[in-house]
Amino acid sequence: MTTMSSTQERTARLVALAGELADEFATRADEHDQQNTFPFENFERLKASGYTSLPIPEELGGLGGTLLDFVMCQERLAQGCASTALSINMHIFATGSLMENLLNPPPPPANGGQPPANPVEGLKLMVAMLAQTKFLIGGGFTEAEIGGNWGFPMTKAVRQAHNGAPGFVINGRKQFTTMAPVIDLVAVNTTTTNADGEQVIGMFVIPRNTPGIEIVETWDTMSMRATASHDMVIKDCWVPEQACVGLRAPGDADVGANGLLVWFGGGIGAIYTGIATAARNFAIDWAKSRKPILFERPISHFPGVQFHVAEMEIELAAMRALLHSTAREWMAGGLRERSDLARIVMAKTYATNAAVRVVDQAMAVVGAPSIFRSNRMQRYYRDVRPGAFQPMTNDVAKELIGKTALGIAPDFLPRWG
Ligand SMILES: Cc1cc2nc3c(=O)[nH]c(=O)nc-3n(C[C@H](O)[C@H](O)[C@H](O)COP(=O)(O)OP(=O)(O)OC[C@H]3O[C@@H](n4cnc5c(N)ncnc54)[C@H](O)[C@@H]3O)c2cc1C
Repeated sequence: MTTMSSTQERTARLVALAGELADEFATRADEHDQQNTFPFENFERLKASGYTSLPIPEELGGLGGTLLDFVMCQERLAQGCASTALSINMHIFATGSLMENLLNPPPPPANGGQPPANPVEGLKLMVAMLAQTKFLIGGGFTEAEIGGNWGFPMTKAVRQAHNGAPGFVINGRKQFTTMAPVIDLVAVNTTTTNADGEQVIGMFVIPRNTPGIEIVETWDTMSMRATASHDMVIKDCWVPEQACVGLRAPGDADVGANGLLVWFGGGIGAIYTGIATAARNFAIDWAKSRKPILFERPISHFPGVQFHVAEMEIELAAMRALLHSTAREWMAGGLRERSDLARIVMAKTYATNAAVRVVDQAMAVVGAPSIFRSNRMQRYYRDVRPGAFQPMTNDVAKELIGKTALGIAPDFLPRWG
């Protein structure tokens, strides 16, 4: 008889928790998708179960999950409600990368940036506070004018004192503010100035109820409908100096990028793998029970159906293998060089693109009934689409992967030719 190590036990416990939550969320996923409503009750459950503090060590009030645990849990959660899994990804990846900074403070940024204002003790306090208050962090990075080019925000933070206290006044408009109705702390990237008056990119963490922050309900989409990823308008919003948690040079999105992207991309890759798995499970059940009257046995006995299923199995095994091995390598202390970023984004790029192919195969098994609104397959078809649009987007990732393999520095100029 083999016994489980304490690490394996923790992983099994966390994945079981994700499964329990996923099965509950699945009961209301179709309704929230159809009504374009936000599943507030799911977020209460995520908080009450401790899932929102998954990567925080137990001694600081969390569940003590690793990056690999996170990847496995997010895959399972997305099988129940992909919108909820995507929403909570924003918070957990932010918490996970805070943990990375706690364990290994990133090097100071080059070219006029400054190291984050928060020392290790401050980070520890923040992480413990997150576990205790169950506050949720959301991100306001994307803007209509810049899309995913987050290193060049049009949102401005101008240094201005208020009642003698040093601070900033922020103005701008963000898009895609996922889980807007329940965010407590918004991370906002801005163009600002450092103490020497040089133009830099400033990262702020602002309580959601700060005067000047307004959510404008714009979210009515084809995919991920229950994420309420509305616009956020920031108008004459004054924040104290302490709200600025990091300054870096304009366009320099690379400082600490490995730690950020290994968590963000790991979670995103896992979510879309979860959607693909849910579609695969649905198709398998369908193939086993669908028996046209002409035949003695169900359609699972047809070679075409078996080949579709085989394609799904191969893709899913490869997606998981790459996501898990990337997480394991990171946890073992690897993938820390800038040149490793290509390897990190490869897992997310492969998983999100393969997920689309898997759902297409699943639809081929189910056939025409899959396009009915009442059939869950059409939700998987819609929800799986935006994976490639999330950072790093396909084009940006492929440029990085290709240049790395060819020995061309990602910042080599001219960029092309
Ligand atoms: C469901 C969902 C939830 C989201 N939630 C959030 C959130 O909570 N917070 C947040 O800030 N954002 C969020 N986003 C936004 C997302 O993270 C991306 O930043 C955003 O989708 C990218 O912008 P865009 O698609 O408008 O692409 P653009 O950046 O405008 O890109 C359009 C096309 O041009 C290409 N392109 C653009 N710039 C370059 C470049 N420099 N080099 C090469 N090719 C380029 C892209 O690859 C793409 O093919 C969310 C997106 C989705 C779909």
